[in-house]
Amino acid sequence: MVGSGVTGVEFVHMFSAFGAKVTLIVSRQQVLPQKDPEVAAVLEDDFIKRGVRLFKGARAEGIDLTADAVSVRCDDGRVATGSHVLLCIGSMPNSEGMGLEDLGIELDGGYVVVDHNCRSTLSHVYAAGDLSGKLPLSSVASMQGRKIAEHALGLHAGPHRHLDYEKAASAIFTDPEIADVGLAEADAFAVGRKVRVTKVPFSASAKALINDDPRGFVKIVSDPATGVVLGGSIVGQHAAELISVIALAVTAGLKVIDLAESILVHPALAEALSDAAE
Ligand SMILES: Cc1cc2nc3c(=O)[nH]c(=O)nc-3n(C[C@H](O)[C@H](O)[C@H](O)COP(=O)(O)OP(=O)(O)OC[C@H]3O[C@@H](n4cnc5c(N)ncnc54)[C@H](O)[C@@H]3O)c2cc1C
Repeated sequence: MVGSGVTGVEFVHMFSAFGAKVTLIVSRQQVLPQKDPEVAAVLEDDFIKRGVRLFKGARAEGIDLTADAVSVRCDDGRVATGSHVLLCIGSMPNSEGMGLEDLGIELDGGYVVVDHNCRSTLSHVYAAGDLSGKLPLSSVASMQGRKIAEHALGLHAGPHRHLDYEKAASAIFTDPEIADVGLAEADAFAVGRKVRVTKVPFSASAKALINDDPRGFVKIVSDPATGVVLGGSIVGQHAAELISVIALAVTAGLKVIDLAESILVHPALAEALSDAAE
């Protein structure tokens, strides 16, 4: 596998679960380079336990085919050989040759430039989904479609909330699952924003212990002055479900105390959320 972004790691997880021997070529020093390093570390541990070979800090330079194998040459001299190679190194828009620009629809690198209502520079033409150059997620595409329908029907005359891509939750379907939403600790750090970060490992969760899977953690990022929940990450079982609670808090502007004082089911994995908030 060349590429350790979301799609790359999901395929590595899938093929290694099938029992295939997988080598993952990671151009940086961390799988999932866009994600929280602590999150990536849990996944790397799991890959290593499954016998996945990680070529970190290696960029694929070329591919050589023989009669029964394919080899990927890396810039640091390492070579990975196997039956197949999968390239998961990005995507590009498929808008060329449609004459969009001739109609007055502005493109940026092939993506349709849209405003907050997903309207292109040609006012009665909208763009939803990956082609809008926003967050390439099905959930985002579908919400954009809903917003476009409302706008086109004039339902936006009154007060309404604009799409806020920074508050979109996303998940990576590996084992353990990974999910996050809103402001990440590393991003806050990069822009010098003060945040409070609290983390609770699933090893402290009764339900995770009952399930015999205490891997991972819940992390909540909040504003130290107001207590407003700004984001969070979850690694562990059902992370894609559990992140919904933090996503709701981020969208609704809830405070950590709202999560901490919610009386949740015991035993449940979600208790780790209120514990982290507490
Ligand atoms: C491996 C993988 C896993 C993913 N997993 C997730 C996930 O778990 N959760 C998630 O939220 N997102 C996931 N995504 C992202 C998600 O698939 C995309 O964000 C989503 O499909 C975008 O929807 P879309 O309608 O913009 O584009 P697409 O789903 O790509 O649909 C575009 C459609 O338009 C058609 N088309 C293209 N050109 C023309 C033309 N000229 N005329 C007519 N039709 C045309 C195409 O054939 C296609 O059917 C994943 C993506 C990949 C690649």
